Amino acid sequence: METKTMNIKVEKAKTSKIGQVDFNNLAFGNVFTDHMVVCNYKNGSWEVPEIVPYHPITLDPSAKIFHYGQSIFEGMKAYKDGNDDIWLFRPMDNCKRLNISAKRMAIPEIPEDYFMESLKALLKLEKDWIPQTPGSSLYIRPFIFASGNGFHASPADEYMFIIAFAPSGAYFSGKVKVLIEEKYSRSANGGVGFAKAGGNYAGQFYPTQLAVDKGYNQVIWTDDNTHEYIEEAGAMNIFVRINDTLLTAPTSDRILDGITRRSILKIAESEGIPVEERKIAVSELIKAAKDGSLKEMFGAGTAAVISPISTFGFRDVDYDLPETPNSYAALFKKCITDIQYNRAEDNFGWRL
Ligand code: PMP
Repeated sequence: METKTMNIKVEKAKTSKIGQVDFNNLAFGNVFTDHMVVCNYKNGSWEVPEIVPYHPITLDPSAKIFHYGQSIFEGMKAYKDGNDDIWLFRPMDNCKRLNISAKRMAIPEIPEDYFMESLKALLKLEKDWIPQTPGSSLYIRPFIFASGNGFHASPADEYMFIIAFAPSGAYFSGKVKVLIEEKYSRSANGGVGFAKAGGNYAGQFYPTQLAVDKGYNQVIWTDDNTHEYIEEAGAMNIFVRINDTLLTAPTSDRILDGITRRSILKIAESEGIPVEERKIAVSELIKAAKDGSLKEMFGAGTAAVISPISTFGFRDVDYDLPETPNSYAALFKKCITDIQYNRAEDNFGWRL
């Protein structure tokens, strides 16, 4: 990864917290590094980003983030290889998606060079925080929220862009048990489901908690109109393998266009795996589970990487997935993580 020097001011932390961190026992996203990127939008433009010590933020009680939820974010990771070299995976895709989310939420778009250069500068500064233990990485959270004030229900005139880092272990431990949801909806046509808007996640918490109370890890959302077709999970796109065909729902207004999803589709194409991007009916899944043609289901996302699903529940019945030899999930996971950790050739040009 090369760094260009844009004039990013760096204020260094007086002391480092790194000595207090147990890098062999990292949970997901609850330890933060010493510094963060901060960039303010004021008077109609983004100011040059700065790097400052990680610190709490003071906001006016009328800041619009609190009332109208103008807030968007991204999730990405940095990886360290055996030679201590640092790698990002398709970072421009995250930058572009943040701006797609920004547009939908009436938030000013962040200049791409501000995003990329401040991210690289922070990575250089925090390189010792990138874990090397297997399965661990540095989770990167860029986000923008309305810091401008006022109770008027209209877009704010001031925003903050922040990048914070969290050295992290696995998102899920073990296989995932999911519940197919028929009552609540995550998103709707014409809505904001395709954006990484904070409220999309808040709206999932209650139905997900109901599923957790029943012993599931996650909800699989169905389309809001009929609830007959599976869409995606809380923070993962969903793939299904019926016989040898790989299926996933097409992206739409309602589904996040996942970067892991895109990568899997490319790898599948290069491996000659038959793929269908189409609507997947719950009835089709159940029929395939019953006749044995449903070989695998897995979730795919930056945090979750590839998470095999052990069981899906629907209307109080649990359907167990078989152990499939030579699973697609294992193949995609190996291929993607080998590129991310610089263990293999990157024929797709994804590593930076
Ligand atoms: N769907 C949703 C709702 C998500 O939050 C995420 C995580 N960003 C994904 C899918 C997977 O996207 P990606 O592969 O880009 O992380």
